[in-house]
Amino acid sequence: MAVVKANAYGHGAVEITRTLIRHGISRVAVASIEEGAQLRHSGITGPIIVLGPLFPEQIADLLAYQLTPVVSDSALLPILAQAAASFPVPYPIHLKVETGMGRLGLSQKELLRLFRDHRFPPTLQLEGLMTHLADADGPSAEKTIEQLSKFQDAIRVVTQAGFRVPLIHAANSAAAVRFPESCFSLVRPGLMLYGYHTLPNAVAAPALKPVLSLQTTVAQLRTVSPGQTISYHGTFQARTTSKIAILPIGYADGVSRHLSNRGYVLVRGRRAPIVGLICMDMMMVDVTAVTEVTVGDEVVLIGRQGSEQITAHEVAQWAGTIPYEVLCAIGPRIPRQYRSD
Ligand SMILES: *Cc1c(COP(=O)(O)O)cnc(C)c1O
Repeated sequence: MAVVKANAYGHGAVEITRTLIRHGISRVAVASIEEGAQLRHSGITGPIIVLGPLFPEQIADLLAYQLTPVVSDSALLPILAQAAASFPVPYPIHLKVETGMGRLGLSQKELLRLFRDHRFPPTLQLEGLMTHLADADGPSAEKTIEQLSKFQDAIRVVTQAGFRVPLIHAANSAAAVRFPESCFSLVRPGLMLYGYHTLPNAVAAPALKPVLSLQTTVAQLRTVSPGQTISYHGTFQARTTSKIAILPIGYADGVSRHLSNRGYVLVRGRRAPIVGLICMDMMMVDVTAVTEVTVGDEVVLIGRQGSEQITAHEVAQWAGTIPYEVLCAIGPRIPRQYRSD
């Protein structure tokens, strides 16, 4: 099950889902009903699981779009069961159990109450049982092993109540690679599909290739004299006569303001430092050391240019975050272009 939430981690959910289906993926996961509806509106007919919380007022849309909910609150089951009562076959749902993430999910106690007391509604089909791991990419395996053991307890409760659950799942990208015992009948990779991982160095990572590159163009060039400042509040002051390139991309497009006076971009195959505060729609880089820059030159914020490369990982380090956030921050104003080769 490919995780395509947050616009497929910034890559474009519709195109990514279509491509993954062509490559044999049987189902996808999104975070919200709205994300699921967007995929349905673009003609995607396969199973779509909604990972995020479900509210009673969303149930009509959930059923209308034939989305599969992850239920994390047993109070929702009777409401869902009633809404699905007129359907010819039981409506598929996945149940989520909380095993240590401290987020959504039924507690072990709630699960016992539901299954020992035979309260699971007959108009629903328990298609999936899942949990989410908090530390699959952490330095130690301890927490994950503990969570998987609690999940095994939960599986036992459900199977002992006579349920055969076709889809049992726990693994995100990191767990799918690092903990084979977490793979059960389904895995939920997100980040690794897009060519990144956050596994610790001691864990062997698969060979991954970043899928996306983020590019802009030099919009204007200006030469500034020593002492002149760049952008709001003048946080950058030129020490020597400098050549500054203005780029039409900013924090509204997902270029973190934390990269102000910190990060780099690629121009003519060379690293050019970001100077001054990043603005909403623009940013400036120092191209003094780059020869023959002209207006219209391609500028790479993530990706390769010549023999140089900037990864989302590196951008994340400059900005004090993780590659996940760098990728899914890429905003809706950025046109996505897809290459099939
Ligand atoms: C986002 C998410 C995933 C995917 O995680 P990656 O680390 O990107 O592989 C899997 N499961 C759940 C419940 C998620 O929310």
